[in-house]
Amino acid sequence: MLTVMKFGGTSVGSLEAIERVSKIVANTQGNKVVVTSAMSGITNFLVACCEDLEYMRKDTLETFESKHLEVAKAMLDEKQYAEFMKEFKPRFDNFKALLYDEKAAKNPYYMDNVTSQGERFSSLLLCHKLRSMGYKSIALTSEDCGIIAEGKPLNGNANLRMTETNMGINVMPYINKGYIPIITGFYGVTEDDLPLTFGRGGSDYAAAVVANALNADMLEIWTDVDGFMSADPRVVPHAKKIDEMSYGEAAELAYFGAKVLHPRTIEPVRKKHIPLKVRNSFKPEEKGTLISRYREYSNELLRSAAAKTDLSIITISSPEIAYRPDIVAKILAKISENDDSLYSISTSLSTVAFLIHNNDVKSTLSKLYEMDNADVEKIDVTSDVALICCVGDDLISTSGVSGEIFSAVKEVDANVMMISEGASAVALNFVVRNCDVLPVIKILHERFVEEDEDYAESE
Ligand code: ASP
Ligand code: MG
Repeated sequence: MLTVMKFGGTSVGSLEAIERVSKIVANTQGNKVVVTSAMSGITNFLVACCEDLEYMRKDTLETFESKHLEVAKAMLDEKQYAEFMKEFKPRFDNFKALLYDEKAAKNPYYMDNVTSQGERFSSLLLCHKLRSMGYKSIALTSEDCGIIAEGKPLNGNANLRMTETNMGINVMPYINKGYIPIITGFYGVTEDDLPLTFGRGGSDYAAAVVANALNADMLEIWTDVDGFMSADPRVVPHAKKIDEMSYGEAAELAYFGAKVLHPRTIEPVRKKHIPLKVRNSFKPEEKGTLISRYREYSNELLRSAAAKTDLSIITISSPEIAYRPDIVAKILAKISENDDSLYSISTSLSTVAFLIHNNDVKSTLSKLYEMDNADVEKIDVTSDVALICCVGDDLISTSGVSGEIFSAVKEVDANVMMISEGASAVALNFVVRNCDVLPVIKILHERFVEEDEDYAESE
């Protein structure tokens, strides 16, 4: 049995957290591999440093050093600390050289390099803590493992095939010899050997890539919440934890607003049917949410509702769209030149509408303005809208369900501006104004989750 365990920033954010997590690792049966985020706050700090290198570099190095060394000193004895320093020093010297390297700073992947530094030190702390408890452990960077990444700066994707080959050579032998490898999350390396991050929060995805590469039996994502919930508990205090979900449901929710997992975490494990558990490192006795290929049919119409806010609808009018699909293709090609995420697309006789993030509107419009006037008649933008993602068992197949959902939405006077139903069998997604999100989520939860429960209890 091989378990890949990922710990997020808060789970390794302090001495107490690292001690708690080390116990969780030690108590896990079978072979295990750990993937870790940077200590909480560190990546934000590194991002700020990149934005004003000249002014921030000295402070960054000092804070960075003291934060990690303080924890190391408190948890290791003198001899163990000396061992730790042997690995800390070269990593820290590299980091320092990087911050003063004017030439490297001009490279488009420079920010990836700087912001990926936090993981290199949190992994060392965890490794040496486990060693001090008598376990064989080794800290490996993504470079050591050969986690291969491709794509634009700050938005990498792993090459799963190459990573699997490399990890078979670089990591498997350690596992076979009884080591617990502690691997840096968040980034891989390009073919030119440059770090490339997987987007903010990317350690979840990195852990799924590692689980895929090692053909793990289980991926456990340890975080600071209990698992996937029926709604955001800050909005809906009665929200309940979901025990089991399918890959499809978790992927929809992660992509469209539930902030539990990095949106791309599901794919690498789904490909190999590796089950994934989301668990709370502050409450290891709780079971969390199990995500797998199968789950028990639950007879719940709505299992969870999440919202992705701060989006914009771009509507492009062109009288010919229905008869000329090549126009849609041209528009899509133009928009995708920017590599921004598209959250939904819908077409009608004479319009095509896209849902993108507010921040991407300017760059998208500049691409669209490059198009031929004969193809595009008019472009309209509606900003500050939100996509509501509803996930449930029979949402699509039960007749009348969408009607019930939309009449609940109408009760709170919210206007549905765009609908995308049926793209995935488990989800019903629609767009409302940002300001309508809270009442919409609340009423959906009240009607379809809480009342459903009352009904089940009274049976
Ligand atoms: N440390 C990185 C971040 O804060 C990656 C992660 O935590 O998953 O974005
Ligand atoms: Mg995180």
